[in-house]
Amino acid sequence: MILERSPNILTSKYSKLLPFFKGSCKGTGEALPQAEGLLGAGCFAYLCAMSFFKTAKPFVVAGPCSAETRQQVLETAAALSGMQVQLFRAGIWKPRTRPGSFEGNGVQALEWLQEAKQLYKIPVAVEVAEPAHIEQALKFGIDVLWIGARTTVNPFQVQHLADALKGIDIPVMVKNPVNTDVDLWQGAIERFEKAGITNVAAIHRGFSGYTSVAGGYRNQPNWPIPIELKRRKPELTIICDPSHITGNRDRIAEVAQKAMDMHFDGLMIETHPNPDAAWSDAAQQVTPARLKEILAGLIVRQEFTEDMTALMQLEYLRQLMDSLDTEIIDLIAKRMELSEQMALVKKAGNLTAYQPGRWREIVETRGERAEAHMLSKEFIVELYEKIHHESIRRQLLILEGLENEIKK
Ligand code: PEP
Ligand code: MN
Repeated sequence: MILERSPNILTSKYSKLLPFFKGSCKGTGEALPQAEGLLGAGCFAYLCAMSFFKTAKPFVVAGPCSAETRQQVLETAAALSGMQVQLFRAGIWKPRTRPGSFEGNGVQALEWLQEAKQLYKIPVAVEVAEPAHIEQALKFGIDVLWIGARTTVNPFQVQHLADALKGIDIPVMVKNPVNTDVDLWQGAIERFEKAGITNVAAIHRGFSGYTSVAGGYRNQPNWPIPIELKRRKPELTIICDPSHITGNRDRIAEVAQKAMDMHFDGLMIETHPNPDAAWSDAAQQVTPARLKEILAGLIVRQEFTEDMTALMQLEYLRQLMDSLDTEIIDLIAKRMELSEQMALVKKAGNLTAYQPGRWREIVETRGERAEAHMLSKEFIVELYEKIHHESIRRQLLILEGLENEIKK
């Protein structure tokens, strides 16, 4: 691995920075001695090649929202280094929503992180938003980079960052874009993969809304989106950031547990020695002591079990569910047939395919039936919107004499 990649590294425009990569490989337990010889001081990313984010379950990233002072960085890192924390985070270039807020300490804070890394043997991560940030971060031996939600939305910027990383295989974490667009998130991840980054992780930090977000979250946790991303990219590490989702330290434990229940691989939790006095995101940061409690209270669930009783019960229930799903699909097919017969009647009678009064009636009656079964009305109406949409699509084709196109 290392031998294969080294020529690539040496042709990179950042090859002159390699001596700055110094570090420990906490948690992986597999230092590769030959790397020392090849890369001089040794490169953290290479020592941890391929499996950086898979070294613990959950993989925990913790540290302050922003690196405020040398003292704050060192104090937090000291506290976290004795805990189940695999990576120390601190923002040093802060993407603030409005100008005038604290925008980070910039390059001087890189020195504090470098010191924390050396003193406490913990890898360190910063957010980068510009190629110049990458250059500085590499110069100071930062081990992992993350891309913020407001950068992920911009494919031009993401590509600039990926280009700046060509030949430097440093782990990269990509936060979801602020809008609910799984393709945009996947695209950003793929730009880094194409640039040769072997350790990429996705971070679900919730999605912003124009008005206050439902459920009292700061950023709505839209779970189907990371789940769809994982379906498309099964090997991808997915980390949940309950701090930016909740915006509220009292709800971090609840969302962290939910992430474990949803089979997330890791957590990013903002941690500060004195959260109320934090210079950014004060309401959502926890003390290292509270983080310890949260981690200790987590129930970490597995996808697989060897417990035969549980396996048999699941298998039985899955068979029942398979046959129910078959019935549901057969019924939907019958419903579409009825809809096509109706289209012929509408065509003969010169009636519109879409009839608002009928659609209102469907929403009302199906909604009531859902509630009678203790099902969410919203969920059933959403399902019917999809079914009705397909029904109307077929009816329109029949009205236009294009019934041959229906199955396409
Ligand atoms: C952060 O992690 O501090 C941050 C700015 O996050 P996001 O990009 O999710 O807003
Ligand atoms: Mn923050």
